Amino acid sequence: MKIGVLALQGAFIEHIKMLCQLGAQTAEVRLPNQLEGLDGLIIPGGESTTIGKLATSYGLIEPLRRFTRSRPTWGTCAGMIFLAKDIGIDEQPILASMDIRVDRNAFGRQIDSFETDLVIAGLKGKPFHAVFIRAPVVTAAADAVKALARLEDGRIVAARQEHLLATAFHPELTGDLRLHSYFCAIVKETMA
Ligand code: GLN
Repeated sequence: MKIGVLALQGAFIEHIKMLCQLGAQTAEVRLPNQLEGLDGLIIPGGESTTIGKLATSYGLIEPLRRFTRSRPTWGTCAGMIFLAKDIGIDEQPILASMDIRVDRNAFGRQIDSFETDLVIAGLKGKPFHAVFIRAPVVTAAADAVKALARLEDGRIVAARQEHLLATAFHPELTGDLRLHSYFCAIVKETMA
């Protein structure tokens, strides 16, 4: 199994380290031809405006859209924004692949970043310790989208639509491999 991590900006190295611990082959993706032969892709957190701009200048928008149509793709934080169909702003380049509406910086500024324990559907054991850094939330989702985790106030912070996964927080920063392992299972299912 070979999983790519979009490596334009943001926390891509941390995702690669987690995938390596799970025994997956990995590849950093900066150019369209680096998507060839990948079984799945992670789009990391960082800054979605920067990721969008760089993806546009490297000619990655259409190849990424095509990839996400059939291959498992997981967006974390800025990556979730980049995957979403609707972010309420027309000027910012996004893939518009997943049927979710996302509110950027839903909790305020850097100083309003926080950590909390989340119950996530499909993960066994203790709640998942989630780190939210200038995080987005899902404000609306199509019927095909399953909410996997919500904050206490009901807002969705993890969701899945078939082979697409989105999390508003940073699972690569805590050393808990369960979400990466969940994504690898989606990749395996899709390959079979
Ligand atoms: N606020 C950032 C954005 O809009 C996302 C922050 C993150 O990825 N930690 O892209």
